[in-house]
Amino acid sequence: MPELPEVETVRRRLEPVLVGRTFEYVDIHDARLVRPHEPAEVAAELFGERVSAVERRGKYLIVRFESGRALLIHLRMTGGLNHDAAHGRRGSLQDDPHRRAVVRLENGSDVAYRDVRRFGTWLLLEPGELEPYLASRVGPEPLGPGFTTAYLHGRLAGRAAPLKAAVLDQRTVAGLGNIYADEALWRARLDPRRPAGGLSTREVADLRRGIRAALRRGIAKQGADLGDGVYASGSMQDEFNVYGRGGEPCRRCGTIIAKTRLAGRGTSFCPACQAASSGSSRPSRSRSRSSS
Ligand SMILES: [Zn+2]
Repeated sequence: MPELPEVETVRRRLEPVLVGRTFEYVDIHDARLVRPHEPAEVAAELFGERVSAVERRGKYLIVRFESGRALLIHLRMTGGLNHDAAHGRRGSLQDDPHRRAVVRLENGSDVAYRDVRRFGTWLLLEPGELEPYLASRVGPEPLGPGFTTAYLHGRLAGRAAPLKAAVLDQRTVAGLGNIYADEALWRARLDPRRPAGGLSTREVADLRRGIRAALRRGIAKQGADLGDGVYASGSMQDEFNVYGRGGEPCRRCGTIIAKTRLAGRGTSFCPACQAASSGSSRPSRSRSRSSS
């Protein structure tokens, strides 16, 4: 499932393709994509819109138009957007049974949206609707200035839910999903099963740092390619520390990575260097538990 680094990778690829271009024709083949609106109506509304920016908030991709409208795209499980600069000429797209929509630009190239599991959504918002829509759904960008230790501490305070569940809440950490949550908790040496409200200020600072480092690494590797064909060039999967590594040795201490389920999600962690502990008795960074 695309998370912040994967969506950011898609955004960076689309930005030079779309900015300044006009939607000449839009064909939406799958009614689920724009539900409850009619595909033909949404397509007609998009006709003639000129792109002013391609942005991202959390896992949302935002195509802003000069009219002030915005197309809010959520890739959900398997959505993806493809544009081949060399071969993206009109009519040259290869057959794809999972294609759900095609946007034809005025320069003659096509951008195709494909989605194997069909959970992705497109929502066309009128001027002024985007910010309130996002404000109720996503918290501050974890790589932005608003994602401070004090903010994160405030969000986690008093919560009995497991830490893993708490950081998956998009209003707490915009864009974090199952993969980067596990990676961030490993980096922060925090047990994903701990009650979220029980962290010390220092542990919250470690968590914030772990989240930011995991996401930055993911962006640098152009996201993860998990074999669903959506992100062809990402290589983050080659250096996961815990995600998908249950039964393999921890890269930090050699202990076998454990797997459990938290909040309905598969969760991988190192039972030694992410051992549950109270804030005060926790070993320091320099004295790790690697010998245990
Ligand atoms: Zn370990």
